Amino acid sequence: MKRTMALLLSGMFTCFLQSCYGQSSPAGQNEKKSTEYSHTDTEPVNKSNKDWQKVLAPEVYEVARLKGTERPFTSEYEHSKEVGTFYCAVCGNALFKSDAKYESGCGWPSFFEPISKKSIIEAADNSYGMQRTEVMCGRCKSHLGHLFNDGPPPTGLRYCINGVVLDFEKAKTAEKTYNNRKKSNSGS
Ligand SMILES: [Zn+2]
Repeated sequence: MKRTMALLLSGMFTCFLQSCYGQSSPAGQNEKKSTEYSHTDTEPVNKSNKDWQKVLAPEVYEVARLKGTERPFTSEYEHSKEVGTFYCAVCGNALFKSDAKYESGCGWPSFFEPISKKSIIEAADNSYGMQRTEVMCGRCKSHLGHLFNDGPPPTGLRYCINGVVLDFEKAKTAEKTYNNRKKSNSGS
């Protein structure tokens, strides 16, 4: 009986730990989506921060609408090598392809180019006594990160993006090819 209680208690404790540390999981990010969220709609989204706060997860709201920065080296996307597309976690706008992603070592997911000129907005940011270029979503104007000139060829640019404001979707065809290869490899 005592043993059962101990097991029960340790189980509860594990659940408690998971709920504390599970906040940045992708499942958590996907819980709340705005009605404007779309991978195909390109109509600009204009919504007040008050309204955004109601639909976004707190960690997404903090970065996207209050121009916050997630802690470095915390994004699951920083070292991700999967093939697919990165979308704005706020409105679903397509932002970056995995082909343009590289390991910059700066602590945040880094890309050398956006999907198109229109997918993002660049603006001067002179906050904190620094001259930087802010990167925002081209559809909903959410803060994504900053742009630097120390990236790799062919652009020489580094789009340093907070992982919390990104949604990743694996490329369907790439996934199929990968699975087929796996099947044929295991069969031989
Ligand atoms: Zn957006």
